[in-house]
Amino acid sequence: DLRNTIQDLKGNIRVYCRIRPPLESELTKPLFNLNVLDACSIEVEKIELLNSARKCKPQSFTFDGIFTPHASQEDVFTEVSAMVQSALDGYNVCIFAYGQTGSGKTYTMEGGCGTEQYGIIPRAFNMIFTCMEDLKRMGWELTIKASFLEIYNEVIYDLLNSSKDQESHEIKMVNSKGIDVYVSNLKEEEVKSSHDFIRLMIFAQRNRQTAATLNNERSSRSHSVAQIKISAINEKRKERYTSNLNLVDLAGSESGKTTQRMDETKHINRSLSELSKVILSLQTNQSHIPYRNSKLTHLLMPSLGGNSKTLMLVNINQFDECFSETLNSLRFATKVN
Ligand code: ADP
Ligand code: MG
Repeated sequence: DLRNTIQDLKGNIRVYCRIRPPLESELTKPLFNLNVLDACSIEVEKIELLNSARKCKPQSFTFDGIFTPHASQEDVFTEVSAMVQSALDGYNVCIFAYGQTGSGKTYTMEGGCGTEQYGIIPRAFNMIFTCMEDLKRMGWELTIKASFLEIYNEVIYDLLNSSKDQESHEIKMVNSKGIDVYVSNLKEEEVKSSHDFIRLMIFAQRNRQTAATLNNERSSRSHSVAQIKISAINEKRKERYTSNLNLVDLAGSESGKTTQRMDETKHINRSLSELSKVILSLQTNQSHIPYRNSKLTHLLMPSLGGNSKTLMLVNINQFDECFSETLNSLRFATKVN
């Protein structure tokens, strides 16, 4: 149908921009100019005050959609829910939150306290469980498994395993022919209710927090991945399918300033640039897609490309001091869109 045709012409990636509102404590911080031109484009400009007022040229950027600082978590999920539906229809799906530390990635993916502030991850689960009931009436039996992991300095950590010395986690092929991969020694929990899932998510968050306390910058310098595996079987119709929904809170995109952190920054920026390389080579139909250049792209190989679907949320804030990082994020978004 027409919708599919449009999707094909566009490629399977959608990019949205979300502008974070200032917190109560940040209300006095100076802001750069940001104009929302229409539903899909923004214009940014920073006024430099040197000797005399000097105005820089405004730069505009276009997306598949913009979430203004007033957009609620529900508004965001309304747009994103089509991707969750795709996962329920059998497609592999990736949803990424990209942006500098403090731009609202974790808030967008996980959310805050209370159901109203729930982010994409818990909302996606609630939707899956609601749909499961309907699918059951049509003869479909769904099994949902969840795993939570973190990739820090190209090492994988299982967030459902709280023991300090974990066995190493390697990315392996399911079989020699397919492109399906799995992570060795990674816990995969079957989830039977939204309540089950929230419990797992909180457990994973707590483990991520503990690791972040031991190693201050880990939480901003690691990628956090929630993987939801759906297996569906319909005995009557003798049909089955499996699909993956990957929800990724990416490492902060900022470039490091202190030399001490240079090594990590190199790793982080490298894996973010490997991700954009993979997306770019998919967009331009290259014959070789460099999935294996980073743990993140290797892990997501079955869910990037082919007929899988990708949605990227580029989170920005409007503070003057963040202008150059914001420009970097907006340029990244334009590049992959
Ligand atoms: P990041 O994960 O990119 O480092 P966070 O998600 O931690 O950023 O957001 C930074 C702060 O801003 C947090 O206190 C978070 O709760 C808050 N925040 C982010 N986005 C929003 C939003 N849309 N509405 C209200 N508060 C937000
Ligand atoms: Mg975060």
